[in-house]
Amino acid sequence: MYQSLATKISNMKHRIGLTTIFIITFFFISFAQNKKAIICLTYDDGLQTQLTNVIPQLDSLGLKATFFLPSIQGSSQSDVIGQTPEAVVGWTNAAKSGHELANHTLFHACPEKLGWQKSFSVETYTVEKIIAEIKIDNSILAMLDPGRKERSFAYPCGNFLIGDTDYSSIIKKQQLVTYARASGDSTSIITNFRNMDPMKVPSWHVWTGTTLNELIAFAEKVRKAGGMGVYTFHGIGGQVFHVSSETHRAFLAYLKAHQDDYWVATFSEAMDYVTKQK
Ligand SMILES: [Zn+2]
Repeated sequence: MYQSLATKISNMKHRIGLTTIFIITFFFISFAQNKKAIICLTYDDGLQTQLTNVIPQLDSLGLKATFFLPSIQGSSQSDVIGQTPEAVVGWTNAAKSGHELANHTLFHACPEKLGWQKSFSVETYTVEKIIAEIKIDNSILAMLDPGRKERSFAYPCGNFLIGDTDYSSIIKKQQLVTYARASGDSTSIITNFRNMDPMKVPSWHVWTGTTLNELIAFAEKVRKAGGMGVYTFHGIGGQVFHVSSETHRAFLAYLKAHQDDYWVATFSEAMDYVTKQK
């Protein structure tokens, strides 16, 4: 009898002990998750080096990213009869492996002062024309990536003005896109989720020759601030705003090695999360 009571007490203690450990672990995990900094890796313009270098590097580490694609280069033809264009295959597979394909208009018109040909610059555009392009790009993306029903958006060259009209609220109201990425620099870290405009999310436009240390320094600033940081990359291992393939690979390895500190998410996934924090 006495022994049985002692056993009962011991079992109870054991259970209480387990429950306490469970509660402590639960709070620790929740706390750790809440403390994680959010990192979004975004790549613009549907460049060839993203298909050949970026996606294999991301996939080898199981990281997901967002690709803002204007009209797909080389989508209408292949040099070999009977062969599906490489870009169509590449982007379709990217979507299947969990990367986000997002809207970047059709023709990527930018301000003339940034070097755009006068007759095709954004100064020649009407709001109707840019909206038509965004709709067409949504249709192209839906064919490459039928699984995703909502699209995020990036303004070509970070410009959201057509004449004096800021078209960001128009495309949101028409439900053409959910969130939009704007431009910025290496100080563009989002710390106040309540006050951020989901249609003008700042990002760091990574310039040619950016080093591994600089890429890591931005992530560390984001971590210290407990915020969200969005990288805007272009060419990797070649092409415009070129960052070397080795630097890029090493940066991904750094993020992977510090996954307790960083949540690497697609732009839409991260924005779904931060907009719910309000
Ligand atoms: Zn672009």
